[in-house]
Amino acid sequence: MTDLETLATAAGRELEDASAQEIMRWAAETFGSKLCVTSSMEDAVVAHLASSALPGIDVVFLDTGYHFPETIGTRDAVAATMPVNVITLTPRQTVAEQDAEYGPDLHDRDPDLCCSLRKVEPLQRGLTAYDAWATGLRRDESPTRANTPVVAWDPKRRKVKIAPIARWTQADVDAYVQEHGVLLNPLLWEGYTSVGCSPLSCTRKPGEGEEGRAGRWAGSGKQECGIHL
Ligand code: SF4
Repeated sequence: MTDLETLATAAGRELEDASAQEIMRWAAETFGSKLCVTSSMEDAVVAHLASSALPGIDVVFLDTGYHFPETIGTRDAVAATMPVNVITLTPRQTVAEQDAEYGPDLHDRDPDLCCSLRKVEPLQRGLTAYDAWATGLRRDESPTRANTPVVAWDPKRRKVKIAPIARWTQADVDAYVQEHGVLLNPLLWEGYTSVGCSPLSCTRKPGEGEEGRAGRWAGSGKQECGIHL
């Protein structure tokens, strides 16, 4: 077991009941510039929490080439108005290059491969500069996220993975957004509850009574893009 792994395991136990602010402060003090936040730009809640603990922190955004204009606009607004350093990671291939090699609309035929090429690999590459990364994962988002630890060892990337709002509910998020005037992706006002890539097979509005992530890869059986598996 590495020192970082030991640290992550102990922190996961000790910080389970800590507030999101306390978790981010611990992360900032422990990792400093070797800590980043990843954001899908659905909202800027974790970026806001992180910038409060560590002004100037790197906020990593995966630009898959398939984002809604509103998501790119949210990224630009975060970069322009918050004390953070937004870093945009891109896949090795443009969408056109991917289409040429794999055929068009790979997201409709093999979304796991598309996510692997456009999200998982770029993140793996982008995280090499850090010892720890913080995410906005929440336990109440879906059954696949129900056991998300607040701090854990990420064996795939050999990093400490931090989920400061893991214990939050949607109501907690809404209250934080309200209190701090946090930026939101405008698509949330249009009925989307989870914002991913723009192809309909990847993101659609959830139906009446469906859980928040039901509109992601709906009907395919796929629930996660792979960066959190
Ligand atoms: S969410 Fe869809 S378009 Fe985006 S990388 Fe995954 S499969 Fe491709």
